[in-house]
Amino acid sequence: MKKTVLVSGGAGFIGSHVTVELCNAGYDVVIADNMSNCDETNYNGVCAILGKKLPFVKMDFCDRGAVEKLFADYPIDAVIHFAAFKAVGESVAEPLMYYHNNLVSFINLLEVARQRKGGCNVLFSSSATVYGETDRLPVTEESPRQSATSPYGNTKQMCEDILRDSVRAYAGIKGIALRYFNPIGAHPSALIGELPRGVPNNLVPFITQTAIGKRECLSIFGNDYPTADGTCLRDYIDIVDLAKAHVCAVARMLDGRMKEEYEIFNVGTGRPVSVLELVNAFEKVNGLKLNYKIAPCRPGDVVAIWADPTRANKELGWKAERSVEETLAAAWAWEKHIAGK
Ligand code: UDP
Repeated sequence: MKKTVLVSGGAGFIGSHVTVELCNAGYDVVIADNMSNCDETNYNGVCAILGKKLPFVKMDFCDRGAVEKLFADYPIDAVIHFAAFKAVGESVAEPLMYYHNNLVSFINLLEVARQRKGGCNVLFSSSATVYGETDRLPVTEESPRQSATSPYGNTKQMCEDILRDSVRAYAGIKGIALRYFNPIGAHPSALIGELPRGVPNNLVPFITQTAIGKRECLSIFGNDYPTADGTCLRDYIDIVDLAKAHVCAVARMLDGRMKEEYEIFNVGTGRPVSVLELVNAFEKVNGLKLNYKIAPCRPGDVVAIWADPTRANKELGWKAERSVEETLAAAWAWEKHIAGK
């Protein structure tokens, strides 16, 4: 029988790509989103890619009654939880809003999921931000977590711990946390992608918005870091590759192949790329020149972080496949699509 996966926050950047890959793999998907940080563009894009309308529930996971109704209405075998606030700077200014939203929604979800007849599998979208600054690179899942530098980062750590402890205590649930490195790009159809509100914080949307003329100039934050070209190193992971890791993780849970009741996987390429390398690759693959300048370092940035993805490669049977060039071409096609060009 077909299994049903609930994707909370499924109208967002990562959730929409994961929904497409889950449907391609034969799962039924229910999307639930309160639309607080997105419009209907990605939901409509998902339906266009799949050629069908997917069940969509507009709801807030902080509303316990709404979560109960959702589980009563659909036979949910697994949940992938994306519904959360994600802006680092905003979380520093509004910590209570972040703690309330990101923790209460997750607790509600677990409370209801654990009581589901037949149990439930929960996949939490975590982040490499939990590793903080470290000089032991690449990072494995065993690398120690550092204390979080923002309330946002803290909610990722706390939700990981809430999931771990709940799985230990309650027979009804199993859990996986995926720690993403830097997700970039867009679906090859250019029908879904990243839609930051206001000025983008992340590098690739800032690059594409500069290239299309929405922003005047990209600032490269720092060029005297102790790296080969002086700019920071990150592990940029293609959004479709990242989405496929979720399908592998969900299948592992649903097929009873987990080795422990709570598992953690890094989702990255294992390949460090500098800011300048990324900018140069964008220019080259898309045949254009980007207006950029060197600016002061951004407070809080770590010099370098990239994944050791060995565990995900071996245990999930997943590997990042797309090159940075392919990914940057997709990001540019998406920017042109939303600009109507
Ligand atoms: N970055 C930059 N200019 C920007 C945005 C980001 O130079 O306008 C750099 C940032 O300093 C970091 C890298 O790009 O080294 C990735 O930043 P992003 O915010 O995308 O992800 P992070 O790794 O900080 O979560």
